[in-house]
Amino acid sequence: MTREGEPSRLRAGVLVTGTEVLTGVVTDRNGPWLARELQARGAQVAEILLVGDRPADIGRGLRRMIDEGLDVVVSSGGLGPTADDLTVEAVASQLGLERFLDAELEARIAAIVRPLARRRGVDATALSAGNRKQATVPRGASVLDPVGTAPGLVIAGGEDRGDGAPVLVVLPGPPRELQPMWRRAVEVEPLRSVLARARRAEVHTLRLFGIPESQLAQTLREAQRDGVRLDELEVTTCQHRGELEVTTRVPDGSGPAYEALAAFLAAAHPSELFSRDGATVDEQVADLMNGRSIAVAESCTGGMLAARLTDLPGSSVYTKGGLVVYSNQAKVTLAGVRRETLAAHGAVSQQVAAELAEGAREALGADVGVGVTGIAGPGGGTPEKPVGTVWLSVAGPGERSMTRCVRLPGDREEVRERAVTVAMHMMRRALLSAG
Ligand code: ATP
Ligand code: MG
Repeated sequence: MTREGEPSRLRAGVLVTGTEVLTGVVTDRNGPWLARELQARGAQVAEILLVGDRPADIGRGLRRMIDEGLDVVVSSGGLGPTADDLTVEAVASQLGLERFLDAELEARIAAIVRPLARRRGVDATALSAGNRKQATVPRGASVLDPVGTAPGLVIAGGEDRGDGAPVLVVLPGPPRELQPMWRRAVEVEPLRSVLARARRAEVHTLRLFGIPESQLAQTLREAQRDGVRLDELEVTTCQHRGELEVTTRVPDGSGPAYEALAAFLAAAHPSELFSRDGATVDEQVADLMNGRSIAVAESCTGGMLAARLTDLPGSSVYTKGGLVVYSNQAKVTLAGVRRETLAAHGAVSQQVAAELAEGAREALGADVGVGVTGIAGPGGGTPEKPVGTVWLSVAGPGERSMTRCVRLPGDREEVRERAVTVAMHMMRRALLSAG
């Protein structure tokens, strides 16, 4: 990722806690989600810090973020009733806040957990100890009602307490609890007013396919030389699933600078810039289907293209289905590939890709068929067909067909993911040219 120009603004951090996240048993979903939320509300996310469940580590993490001078810190995890859930204790002791048992909150938690506990036969003493623990909160904190059983907290920051501390939001770990609670927290003081201070800006996304990041960087330099006011904008470029995403934060009054940038990129990369309104290629394909239907036959991607096609809600309208034809036998039996074609050209070939596309289309009676066959690696490469060689073909709509070969970089996972992206773009081209 590269970044150009960063005017000063509300700065935020996310403190993700949990040993299971730290050790990779659970993949962090809260850090990225909260980062996006904070950014969407105009804050600049300075860091996501990941620590284990140890109170000392949580405390140190929080201290670091306070010393960093952040305006808002959001933590996730460790609010449960058990002994390894220590976030509130760690936060209170780090901020020097006294805790007290909020009797009313204790009653609310008890009312939530009672039916759950009865069903699971949890011991009553353990239960009330857990409730008491969760209802013991720092004095002065605003309590966020539990979504599961754990309450969250909003703790006032420096201006209210005079110690320079950020506004702190303490949320539970499970994403299905954290997300609704965050949406409520943003309405709660003092988080509401600190976020209201954030300089809102429009964010626009441009998407390009088929150019390397270095070339885009070159184009951005040329744009600047040409007088495009990049200094007014915050441009972030990143590679994502074989595409380039250009995200631009446009502060109030810098609309013309952004328009000039978008026009410059469109002129420099007319066929590579495929989206100016943030729409993904998947959404564009969905829009272009226009009553037509699609079927796929996949070898090296093993169903990933079908999965991606069906990612979008509503895709049942146009997705007929897919054949996973990993072996030659499956290619012949399910997709109607001719044995002679396989023998003469090999499974990874233009001819087989084309027959897969036709075969999928025929087998499922679709308007458009797509075939993918390639070498994802790590084994199976040859000098003529190295790992990363993928043949793709789109048959239809109508008499149209297009087949192409790509050499994709990366490991097995990347080759497969990028092959799917190439297929999506070929489908887009085929549908666009069919009108
Ligand atoms: P609980 O009452 O469920 O214990 P908690 O606030 O104490 O809630 P944790 O104990 O930290 O939360 O995490 C509970 C579970 O929530 C984890 O085992 C994990 O499945 C999920 N979880 C926690 N943090 C994350 C995260 N950052 N990303 C994804 N899942 C998470
Ligand atoms: Mg827990």
